[in-house]
Amino acid sequence: MREQDDLMRRGIGMTSQRTRERLIQRLSEEGVSNPKVLEVIRRTPRHLFVDEALAHRAYEDTALPIGHNQTISQPYMVAHMSEVLLQDGPLDKVMEIGTGSGYQTAILAQLVERVFSVERIKSLQDRAKERLVELNLRNVVFRWGDGCEGWPALAPYNGIIVTAVASEVPQALLDQLAPGGRLVIPVGPAGEVQQLLLIVREEHGFTRTVLGSVRFVPLVNGPIA
Ligand code: SAH
Repeated sequence: MREQDDLMRRGIGMTSQRTRERLIQRLSEEGVSNPKVLEVIRRTPRHLFVDEALAHRAYEDTALPIGHNQTISQPYMVAHMSEVLLQDGPLDKVMEIGTGSGYQTAILAQLVERVFSVERIKSLQDRAKERLVELNLRNVVFRWGDGCEGWPALAPYNGIIVTAVASEVPQALLDQLAPGGRLVIPVGPAGEVQQLLLIVREEHGFTRTVLGSVRFVPLVNGPIA
């Protein structure tokens, strides 16, 4: 744990602790209230998940480019989605669709038992893997593939989080939810206003809650190198 803390503190010199505290302050003002989520965001060095040239903006509450026309999600969205996922108590197995930079993956890895992360762009995933090893977060396994299909071999999952927008909820993800399992997913047209949904698998069917308007990059079919 001490080693982990040391790793997490790395680079504090380059982005001051005050800047990080301001971000936490802002997230709580915006309604994030789960203390574990806030603490994990406080200790996770987001600047290691973006290009060096953008590191000075890493603690702003904003999405930033990570190459391949993709973005690292806004900290508020990462916090909010994690909080919604954990709202009913701790989770064991969580699948993430859209590893991207690996930032949301790193946050989840510190909040749940095991993370299964699927990404279609190989080079993004390779870089994300390196970052998680660097931070000594070892309860994550990665799959290069089409997240619309989920990861059926290791299903079911107690939680599924999708960090790209789908035109409709992929059936495979619903199929891979455990009883009582929670799916947090943005749905809607690419480039326009989209809705963040919470879908819970009940004994007989699913309940859906609309959590609000969001903007995500699109979920695209098929893996690429
Ligand atoms: N959570 C990431 C967000 C990255 S943006 C972060 O904070 O860095 C969305 C990611 O979803 C991109 O990396 C994109 O390549 C990935 N993606 C899009 N369609 C996908 C699909 N069908 N399967 C898996 N990943 C997909």
